[in-house]
Formats: sequence, C-alpha cells, structure tokens
Amino acid sequence: MNGILYLCATPIGNLEDMTFRAIKILREVDLIAAEDTRRTLKLLNYFDIHTPLTRFDENCKENVGKKILERLLAGESVAIVSDAGLPAICDPGADLVRLAIDAGIKICPIPGANAALSALICSGLDTKQFFFVGFPPRTQKNRRELLQKLSKIDATIIFYEAPHRLKKFLAELAEIFGERQVVLARELTKVHEEFLRGKISALAEKISEPLGEFVVLVEGKTFSEQISLPNENISDVVQKFMDSGLDKKSAMREAAKKFNVSRREIYSAIKH
Ligand code: SAM
Repeated sequence: MNGILYLCATPIGNLEDMTFRAIKILREVDLIAAEDTRRTLKLLNYFDIHTPLTRFDENCKENVGKKILERLLAGESVAIVSDAGLPAICDPGADLVRLAIDAGIKICPIPGANAALSALICSGLDTKQFFFVGFPPRTQKNRRELLQKLSKIDATIIFYEAPHRLKKFLAELAEIFGERQVVLARELTKVHEEFLRGKISALAEKISEPLGEFVVLVEGKTFSEQISLPNENISDVVQKFMDSGLDKKSAMREAAKKFNVSRREIYSAIKH
C-alpha cells in the first residue's frame, strides 16, 4: 500500500492558528518535508512534534522530490509544510503533488491559514469573483504585460509582493489600473495587523517604508469601465429616476435593474 502525501498548513504569523489536525498529522507521519528546516523546527518544537525533517525547497525539489516519492511508494506517509500558510501556494509543493498524482499516491489537504484568502475576506472588495496572481513577474516588461491583461478582469485581483518592491508596484498599478480601490493587508494575524484602504494613487503616496508582509488586493474592472458608457450617463439615469420621484436608493436599484448589474456597481460608478 502506498503512503499518503499530506499538504499541511502552518500559521502565517499567529501560532494559535495551527490546527489540532495539523499537529496530529505532523506527529504521525514518517517524514516532514519543509521549505526552511530551521524555521519549521522552531514550530515543531513549540508544538512538541518530533518527526524527522528534511529540506524541500526550490533548489533541491527535484532530488528530494524523487526520494519522497520513493518513500511514499514504499508505504510511508509524508507531510509537506511551507514557511507559512498553505504549501503549494507560491511555495514549493505543487510539483511534488503532480508527481504523486501521476504515481497514484493519495493526496490529503490539512487546511489552515492562508494570506490571500485571509486578506480577501477582510478587504471589503468583491469576494464572489477573485483572481489570485501571487507574486508579479520580476522583469518590468513581463510585469507590465500581465498588469495590462489583468486590468480587463471583472474580479478582485490578489497579489503577493515583497515589502521593498511595494512602492514601485503600487505606482505601476496606479498607472495601468487607474483610480481603482486597493486594499493593503499588512502583517495578517500578527501584532501589527492592519488594512489600508483607498484609491491606488493615494495609497502609493502614503506608503513610505512599509514594514512586514503584505497582500495587495485591487478592485476588479468597474462597471463604468466595462460598459464604456461615460459615468455621467449612469448618473443621468439615476438622476432621472430621482426626478420621477424615487429616493436615491430606489433610483440606484432601478438603474441597477436597467443595466442588469448590482446596486454596488451603480454606486461605485456614480462615485467615480
Ligand atoms: N503559502 C503562503 C500562503 O498560503 O499564504 C504564501 C507564501 S508566499 C512565499 C509569502 C507571501 O505571502 C508574502 O510575501 C506576503 O505577500 C504573503 N504573506 C504571508 N504571510 C503574510 C502575513 N502574515 N500578512 C500579509 N501577507 C502575508
């Protein structure tokens, strides 16, 4: 019988976000494969877990991946953990998952903390449709090309970015996305957790020396951008309904029906 490959979440800051199940599985498996063994060892010591640990990162993922696969095929169970959050989300693990699937090995998620979704649910932006990018490309040309494509998407866009690149990245976002709403989710689950909300250019100016880790969320293409109607037309329609005796809320509801969109989208269109 093959073993099981567990993808085990670890906290993104607050150790209390470690789940009971994660602790149990990490104690029970034959091997833990970790991105940074020193960092993971601290976590394991904190939770009194004494399972053997091996390094599994970008540099050694091919060699170690093969050895892990052999052990799984020999019936041992293995857990992958990353430095923080869910393995295989902008972290090593995804390649091993594919190898294991091809070899017929069972994969089992041990869910828990994740920076992107924690940021999204607190952002106030659309949570029905969202597009996770992760880290934008390093080269300016590739990054700008991607941002151009993303600027056409009608969904909240979620980026990871390193603090020292944030200011430049926000300036590019402002240039390519225009005056959209952006949310910076900083130091999630940690002491200095903070959500900065505002228009892209305003936040880009405000950020000086950001400390800690960030998730950047950008509002999707707004209704007024999508229908290529000038905003005044939408305002005109709302105004017409108001002139006919409706209060503003009802007028926006009627305009939303007319354009077959939500009232939130009408509100956002007439705000711009
Ligand atoms: N696997 C992780 C997950 O599930 O969220 C993501 C790891 S990725 C290598 C690291 C990036 O995630 C950081 O650069 C930052 O953008 C984001 N991140 C991780 N922890 C965070 C936190 N506590 N607050 C805000 N962003 C965080």
